[in-house]
This record gives sequence, C-alpha cells and structure tokens, in this order.
Amino acid sequence: MEIERELKAESDLKPLPDPNNLGFGIHFTDHMFVMEYDEAHGWHGPRIVPYQNFSLDPAAVVLHYGQAIFEGLKAYRGSDGHIRLFRPMENMKRMNRSAWRMCMPAIDEDMILKAIKELVSIESRWVPDQHGTSLYIRPFMIASEAFLGVRPAREYIFSIILCPVGAYYAEGFNPVKIFVTEKFVRAAKGGVGEAKTAGNYAASLMASEEAKQMGFTQVLWLDAAERKYVEEVGTMNIFFLMDDILVTPALSGSILPGITRDSVIRLAGSWGIKVQERPVSIDEIIEKADSGRLQESFGSGTAAVISPVASLYYKGKEIRINQGKTGPLAQRLFDEITAIQFGDKKDKFGWIEIVK
Ligand SMILES: *Cc1c(COP(=O)(O)O)cnc(C)c1O
Repeated sequence: MEIERELKAESDLKPLPDPNNLGFGIHFTDHMFVMEYDEAHGWHGPRIVPYQNFSLDPAAVVLHYGQAIFEGLKAYRGSDGHIRLFRPMENMKRMNRSAWRMCMPAIDEDMILKAIKELVSIESRWVPDQHGTSLYIRPFMIASEAFLGVRPAREYIFSIILCPVGAYYAEGFNPVKIFVTEKFVRAAKGGVGEAKTAGNYAASLMASEEAKQMGFTQVLWLDAAERKYVEEVGTMNIFFLMDDILVTPALSGSILPGITRDSVIRLAGSWGIKVQERPVSIDEIIEKADSGRLQESFGSGTAAVISPVASLYYKGKEIRINQGKTGPLAQRLFDEITAIQFGDKKDKFGWIEIVK
C-alpha cells in the first residue's frame, strides 16, 4: 500500500519546544499517520497528514466500550547523527497480539514499520539531540464505528503520533519508593493484562493515586487471585536480584510482555548472570530481604529503560533495597541498553534499525 503525503508548507511548521524542558507527551510534531478500516475495504487510505483532530461520531464504540490498543517506542538520535529505532518489529508483533485479544483487525507489520520510518524521517528535525532525549512514537488503534451494541466494531482508525521527550534521568538515577497494594489489582489471568489496551491504564489510576497521596512514586501489583505473587511495578515489568540470580515474574497471562524486559533477560544472560522467569511471592522478597540476600530491584520499560527501586512498603513495613541506592546491575543494564539505542556500542543482537 502506497502511503500518501499531504505535508505542511515550511512556513506553517511549529516552532520546536525548548530541548531542556521537553517533559513527556506534551509537545506533538507537525504530522501524523492515519488510515481507516472497514469490512468492505480492509485497511485503506494510509497517509501522512498535518497533525489534526479526529472526527468521531458520539456513538463511536471506543468512547463507550474501550476497544482501543496502543504501542510505545522511541527514535534515538545518536552522536553520529543517525536516527535509530530499538527492536521496532517487536512492537508491531505485540500490537497484533493486542489487536487479536481485543477482537480488532490485524495490521500489516512491515507496512506499519515502514510508515513509522517515513513519518519519523519527515519529522526528523523533531528528534532531539540532547543526551538521553528521544522522539516517542505512539501507534494506536480505536474502534470508530457508530454503534451502541456490545460486539466488535466493524470500523477502525489506526494512527501514529510523535512527541519529543526529555531524558528520564536528567539529574541521574532516582530510586523510587514503591507501595505494595493489597486493595487493588491490575489484571487477572484470563483478562486483558497482557494486551496494551486502554482500559488497563484507566483501571490502574486509583491505586497509583492512592500510593502518591501517601508519598510513594508507584505501586507494586500482586496477582488478582491470591494477592501473593508479584506482577508488575506501575506500568513497568519488575526484576529482583537475589542470591546473584536475576528473577522476574513469568509471563502468566496477566503481565505485559515488555520488550525492555526481554532485552534485560537476554543481556544479563549474555553476561553469564543466571536469570529465572518464575512466580515470585512477596513473602519470598521479604524473606530474602530480611536475610540480606535481596541485592537489587528495578523496573523495566521503554520510557525509563531501568527504574531502580529504593524500597517496598508492605503491611506497614518498609523493605529497604541496597540502602535505597542504584545497584551495579541496574546501572550496567541501563548503560548498556542506552549505549545500544544511541549507537555508542556495537549492536551485537541486531536490535537496531536505522531510520536515516
Ligand atoms: C508498555 C508496558 C510495559 C513495558 O513494555 P516495554 O515494551 O518494555 O516498553 C510494562 N508494563 C505495562 C503495563 C506496559 O503497558
């Protein structure tokens, strides 16, 4: 499918935001990608157009029943000037798994990756070059059919928007205090926890608001059935270094299969570190912490890459981890992954795709 282009005149382009004050998800670029789906035509009309509002019927299915999925990845400008993507095909594949789970039409993975590259290439002046900054890429799909019955919609919009984002750790790592919630759960087995679907994030807001009110940065989610096994931290996957073994909860159906999670597992393995994907109970974490065998804990995700955990608060007790400081493994993983993303280290795993 040929991607049509309707580009703004040079004189209509937006001024670039202050590169030292980008924040996250605030400034959007000049153009976006969009295409539509209906049963008669399949996906059609792929085009790059000026950033603009959608026109949606008030009865559009997404507004009522939340049939919506998304992805998140970044474009990085290296010190050599080249713009790189990190394992973008993994995002395409995951988007199709999310689409399947939410009864939405599949996308052509190669075509959408090509659309991302074209859009990023057109918007290349928006890829910031300050250390640690990047251009965030948000592909998403919504059900646009006007219909109030509960069944999969027959019409969809697929779009890609871009926003330059600041360095997550402009002032260095900031290990976070985490509240282990027993009252709320993120997802249950058999539910939609492993899909990147909008409702999961709406469902998570109450718990993180409560944690923030109590002075914590995020919540650690336990499993829905027993409130016993660790699942994720906020919107990140979670890792524990215990007895020199790197442990992360196994993908059990209620956990989002993070691409950073997979990269951490493969990198640590390549360094000779023993890695286990298995159920991890909160009691095991406490027991290992009490006996001095819990060495590190960190979250993983595209936004922050690695987010060290300073402490866990559970049943009125605070578990301090590595004296609240960033551990050597978290630091090494962060350094290695960002060095690959910015082209400062050899891409041994073939994770990088150059845009231009
Ligand atoms: C996106 C996401 C992650 C991290 O996935 P990455 O591919 O590493 O960015 C983890 N947990 C949740 C709930 C997510 O939405």
